[in-house]
Amino acid sequence: MPDCIFCKIARGEIPSRKVYEDDEVFAFHDINPVAPVHFMLVPKLHLDSLSQAGNEHAALLGKMLLLAPMLAKEQGLNNGFRTVINTGKGGGQEVFHLHIHIIGGGNIPPMVRRS
Ligand code: AMP
Ligand code: ZN
Repeated sequence: MPDCIFCKIARGEIPSRKVYEDDEVFAFHDINPVAPVHFMLVPKLHLDSLSQAGNEHAALLGKMLLLAPMLAKEQGLNNGFRTVINTGKGGGQEVFHLHIHIIGGGNIPPMVRRS
């Protein structure tokens, strides 16, 4: 997708702080981190969001999920991490190229607070 910012990052046309790359996926640090470690894992294949993924993408998505803990560990997240996939405007997605946020370090609060 020519005008997609994450496609451009994955192609090296926009600079990023690379975490990992192979022929199918690219990982880079978030420009606006919400925790001491915050990077994103994206497929090089452009998909707008998880809503656009189909059975033909199962292996790619599985690979990304399995890569997440390996990359998290490489980034020093030995005590755990959070994965977030925002999907669509209703899910708070701002960049419409499927990505997994990998977030950790510091104090990560529970997603749902029970009073
Ligand atoms: P989302 O709300 O899930 O679509 O998240 C998009 C994320 O992309 C945000 O956390 C942004 O900080 C991040 N982001 C946007 N532009 C860049 C960029 N050029 N390099 C790194 N991260 C970016
Ligand atoms: Zn894209």
